[in-house]
Formats: sequence, structure tokens, C-alpha cells
Amino acid sequence: MDTNILVIGSGISGLTYAIKIAQQNPSLEVVMISKNTLLESNTRYAQGGIAVVSNFKEDSFDKHIKDTMIAGAGECDQDVVKFVVKEGHDRLQELIDWGTHFDKQKNGLHLTKEGGHSEKRIVHHKDKTGLEIQESLIKKIKTFSNISLLQNHTLVDLITDHHSGGNYKRCYGAYVISNLEQEIIKISAQITVLSTGGAGQLFSHTTNPENATGDGLGAAYRAKVFIKGLPFVQFHPTALYPKIKRNTFLISEAVRGEGGILRSLSGKRFMTEYHPKAELAPRDIVARSIAEVVNETGDDYVLLDCKAISEKEFQNQFPTIKENCQKVGINPPHDHIPVIPAAHYFCGGISVNHYGETKLKGLYAIGECSYTGLHGANRLASNSLLESLVFSHRAAINSIDQMKETLPPRDFYLKLPEWKEEHYFSNEKISAIGRIKKQLQNLMTTKVGIFKTSIGLIEAEVELKNIFLETQDIYLQNKLTLGICELRNMVSVAYLMIKQSQDLKQNKGVFYNQDYVE
Ligand SMILES: Cc1cc2nc3c(=O)[nH]c(=O)nc-3n(C[C@H](O)[C@H](O)[C@H](O)COP(=O)(O)OP(=O)(O)OC[C@H]3O[C@@H](n4cnc5c(N)ncnc54)[C@H](O)[C@@H]3O)c2cc1C
Repeated sequence: MDTNILVIGSGISGLTYAIKIAQQNPSLEVVMISKNTLLESNTRYAQGGIAVVSNFKEDSFDKHIKDTMIAGAGECDQDVVKFVVKEGHDRLQELIDWGTHFDKQKNGLHLTKEGGHSEKRIVHHKDKTGLEIQESLIKKIKTFSNISLLQNHTLVDLITDHHSGGNYKRCYGAYVISNLEQEIIKISAQITVLSTGGAGQLFSHTTNPENATGDGLGAAYRAKVFIKGLPFVQFHPTALYPKIKRNTFLISEAVRGEGGILRSLSGKRFMTEYHPKAELAPRDIVARSIAEVVNETGDDYVLLDCKAISEKEFQNQFPTIKENCQKVGINPPHDHIPVIPAAHYFCGGISVNHYGETKLKGLYAIGECSYTGLHGANRLASNSLLESLVFSHRAAINSIDQMKETLPPRDFYLKLPEWKEEHYFSNEKISAIGRIKKQLQNLMTTKVGIFKTSIGLIEAEVELKNIFLETQDIYLQNKLTLGICELRNMVSVAYLMIKQSQDLKQNKGVFYNQDYVE
């Protein structure tokens, strides 16, 4: 398969980028691949909304910039923060023009306030903003005849000069596996875009879906692209404790905002002992406090007591949370909700410039898989959807400009080598994948999770080496499958996270090494 532009991932970033390209230049062919259905993504699960300055009477760009910089704990790139905040308004309007609905009030959009924001500036669609965005973008993208959509297709590796015996200078597309037939397809492209989202699945508890395994990061790393900021993983303090499935569901901060109280299983309110703002302390502090209580008591979770919220209020404000709790037999606000901190957002990712370009020519990275400098050491709530919108736009405009430059001729792309499966000779060890994945998740949770220590990070590196060797063995001895691809990427991202965490000598933002506490 050969195309002008290959987009890998169909969350808010990939969809927005592809729509922009198709609108601006209908003569360009775009192929978009997605690991599962077009819908399944982190975007789909976003509840809170998008942080955009729109009430200029009380709010201002300066206030939003300041809030973002404070949250980022000195690690933000100020120029990036400035243009993202300022361009947000136009990007939001485009989303509305394309058919996304946000809640309204008398004088315009209904705005909420989230932790770390000095003003009300979160635009939202009830408590399911992400689903509304995702569904409207999917509807929009299907109207373009120059975009081909390939669901259930997974990136294996980026194609670079390396595959033809050269160095890593330019990206020429990707090798992709069809999940069902398990066939490897070569998709050559003049421009390749990674929009593969986060990697919450590295940890035992995560708000991210099963497909968030850091594939874009793993593939970029193998193509020698620089990955930055991985120690900065945001853990959401209150995710539903998963009784049945491992995947959990986010219990929004707004529930605590409306009066939800955190209690240990013995019924004791504990947040008052950790922070003057108790349950409304910054996310990282609430997450650490819950983790400490769980460690001390040996319980698996703590309880969120929602009795201060009336039945009617809860139903009105949190219909999706109520529905998801009821699915597992919990009926808030009558029943306490069992909660546990869960890996939520990767502030780090593939290092890019102001236009989403990586150092590898022809390769862009946008959205959660990228590191733009906006979030620094801690993301301000609801800034990630904003970042995705702004960088997708910038990357699309820049890509169209790139296409005007002298690129290798089209027949060069057609002659790129096919995927070589030289090493496959048995399928015996494939059943070990599930066990190794669990071992990796346990390791990352206990040694590289909310609490880290310098010794723990060294132990993690040693144990990861064994996991790597076992994974490599499976990769070399088996026909490639989706499971092998994901595990290989998770191991790479874990390795980078451990090494980068060892190099950090100071606690900042969401990074917390107990040895550095004075
Ligand atoms: C529960 C939850 C609540 C959130 N709430 C908010 C919020 O209120 N506000 C906010 O700003 N942010 C929120 N976030 C974060 C935000 O949703 C994400 O950062 C954002 O949606 C990322 O968009 P994306 O397009 O970069 O990636 P995603 O939406 O994750 O999309 C990634 C896409 O890549 C595909 N993919 C992955 N690997 C491969 C592969 N190997 N091959 C092919 N395709 C692949 C996936 O299938 C998917 O289509 C929340 C996140 C979660 C999980």
C-alpha cells in the first residue's frame, strides 16, 4: 500500500489532523490505521473537558498560562504554553463547526473549574466530553473520500533508511499488522504521523483502555527518535477499584468537589491529616495519600463516601459514573465507591518541535504520545485535549508545506523492502505473554509507580532485563502477533522510564522519589 500521508491512531489528534489535511488539500491521499475500532482511544473516556479561555470578562490568556506553568513545576516550555493557550479558542470553534456539542448557558458555553485552574474555563459535554468529540470527529472524517480508514490494524515498526541498510534519516511509512489475519503489510508514505496515545497499561491500575500500550513510543525509540519526560506520569487518585476486570473507570475529581469524602475501610476520614485542602488537595498529593493508606492498612482500596450529594444531584451531574458503578453492583451515592489511584496521563513522549515534527524527517508525533513542552512535570487538568487540537492543526499545516518540498520520488517508496520475518520457527512460547505482561505491570506499579526509591529503580532495571530477555525470545521465535508487538513496546517504554527516572535527582511535579524527601 502506498499513500501520501499515513496517520497512526484515531483519537482526537489523529482524527483532527486527517480532517485538516483533507480539508486543506483534497488531492492528498490519507490512510489512517487504528488498532481497534475507530472509537476506542483515551479520547473516548475523557470526562472533564477542554481547558480554553472563553469568558474574557473574568478569565485571560495570562491566567491560563500562569496556571499551566505553575502545574508544570518549572519544566514547561513557556513559548509552547503561550501559543497553545492563545490558539485554543480558534481550534475549539473548529471543533464546534465540525459538529461537536458542548454544554451551554445563557451567555455562551457552560464552563466548569478543575484543580489548578484559577478560573472557570473547562468546556464540556455533560460528563462524557471525550465520547462526544470522538463520535463527532468520526462522523466528520467519514465524509472525506480521500481518507481511507483501516481499523484493527496495528503499527509494528516505522520504515526508515535503516531497513535499506542506511542510517535513521527519514521515515517512509510503517510496517503494520492486521490484527485478525496477522499479516504484515507495508504502507509506504511520504509523511507518517504518530498519534497513538499514552501507555497507562504499563501499570496494574489504569484509567486508559487496553490498547494504551505505548506503541508509538516503542516504535519511535527503535527508529532512534528522542523520547523525553517519561518519569512524569500522572496518577489519578480516584479510579473505581476493578472487582471484575483489571481495567478501571475514572471517578472524577468533581465528585470530591461536590462533597465526596475519602475514608479508609475502617471508616476513618484521612485526607485531613495530609493536606489543609483535604480531599481537594492537588491530584498528586491525594494519590500519594491514598497509596500510603493502602500500604499501611494492607487493604486493596479506600472508599469514596458520596452521602453529602443527593440522589438527584448525583444522577444529574454524574450519569456516566453512576452507570459504570451500577454495572459492577455499586449504587452511589447510597453505596461508598471503592477507589484506588490509577495511571492516567503520560506527560512525557516523543520529542517534537512547535509543529509536531520529530528529528526523523517525515515523521510527526501529536497528542499524548508526544512531548511538546506544554505540560512539563505535571499536566494541568484538561490541557491535554487542548494540546492535541493545537498541535494537530500545526502539524497538518506544516505537513502540507513539507509536501511541496523535494521528496524522494514516488517509485522510491514502492521499492522499499517488505517486512522480513526471518526468525520465526516455533509458536511454543506465545502463551507466556499474559504472564509476562502482568509481571511487568506489577514491577512498574511497585517500583516505578507513585512512590519510587533509588534502590527500587535499580532493582526494577535488573528485573526488567529478565523480562526483556524473555520478551525478545518470544519475539524471535514466534510469528508476530498483536500481543508480541504490544509487549515489546511496553518493555521499551518501561526501560526508558526507569533510566530517565534514575537520572532525575530532584522531585518535581508528579515525580516522587522518597529518597529525595527532606
Ligand atoms: C479516563 C480519562 C479521562 C480523561 N479526561 C480528560 C479531560 O477531561 N480533559 C483532557 O484534556 N484530557 C483528558 N484525558 C486525557 C486525554 O483524553 C488524552 O490525553 C487524549 O485523548 C489523547 O488523545 P490522542 O489522540 O493523543 O490519543 P488517544 O485518544 O489515546 O488515541 C490513540 C489512538 O491510537 C491508536 N493506537 C495505539 N497504538 C496503535 C498502534 N500500534 N497501531 C495503530 N493504532 C494505534 C488507538 O487505537 C487510538 O485510536 C483523559 C484520559 C482518560 C483515560
